[in-house]
Amino acid sequence: MLLEGKKILIMGIRNKWSIAWGVANSCAENGAQVIFTHNTAESAEKVNALIQELPNPNGFTVESFQCDAGSDQSIQECLENIKAKYGKVDGILHSIAHANTEDLRNDFYKTSREGYAHACDISAYSLVATARIAKEIDLLNENASIVALTYYGAEKAIDGYNVMGVAKAALEASIRYLAMNLGKENIRVNGISAGPIKTLSAKGIKDFNSILDIVEEKAPLHRNVTTREVGDAVTFLFSNMSSAITGEIIHVDSGYSIMGV
Ligand code: NAP
Repeated sequence: MLLEGKKILIMGIRNKWSIAWGVANSCAENGAQVIFTHNTAESAEKVNALIQELPNPNGFTVESFQCDAGSDQSIQECLENIKAKYGKVDGILHSIAHANTEDLRNDFYKTSREGYAHACDISAYSLVATARIAKEIDLLNENASIVALTYYGAEKAIDGYNVMGVAKAALEASIRYLAMNLGKENIRVNGISAGPIKTLSAKGIKDFNSILDIVEEKAPLHRNVTTREVGDAVTFLFSNMSSAITGEIIHVDSGYSIMGV
């Protein structure tokens, strides 16, 4: 199994439709011990109930720690608690994004200064803060791998994705700069650019169903992707099979992004 003996931290689980849940299932089925974080104290009960459904042949403890990605203090406390209980980890998934609804609904040029900063803070800077704090508290094992989730809207203008496209562009650049710095310690940082998937976050995007239809029509594979397919690609990036890959953005999108028209 690809992740036998590895501990993987999954940040950004909300429900069984979350991409993070597809990743968690793939990691667990590939032998990893999986640890979770969730955003608010209010969601703790639901998340803790869901994660007990994870395949768990080794009988690992499965639990989730509260972590607000918008607060360095919260990230610090969360990662310290995880280190105290589990020791070092081998992989971290960043599966977190947020933008104000009005900034997704209105034309992009109407984005407020606050809305722009908020989207970039939660969706991009939080990766930098997590990597820095993880390194400072010595949470990462040798050969650790960090993976973040991004979207094609970072590369091309997509109506309705708006400020989130700017945040994802910042996230993708951050992945490259983190890879440059952390590579000295053999820590890898990569991104998966997932095709559109109907999750709670995706509901905030205008005409999301028509984006799904266009992928089915135009992508080389003529279908949309599943959270599990994204999860399997993340498992590859957490595994030793990808040991020479860092700073990359890998598309898991049925090939949609290679098409011209
Ligand atoms: P999701 O299930 O709604 O997950 C988004 C997660 O972000 C939620 O768990 C949410 O927690 C968390 N989050 C938001 N603000 C946070 C904060 N301040 N601190 C900590 N966590 C916070 O949606 P998803 O589609 O799986 O999204 C996961 C990642 O995949 C995101 O980066 C998204 O941009 C990316 N992605 C999604 C698609 C797609 O089509 N769905 C495609 C490509 C990439 P709460 O709900 O508890 O706030």
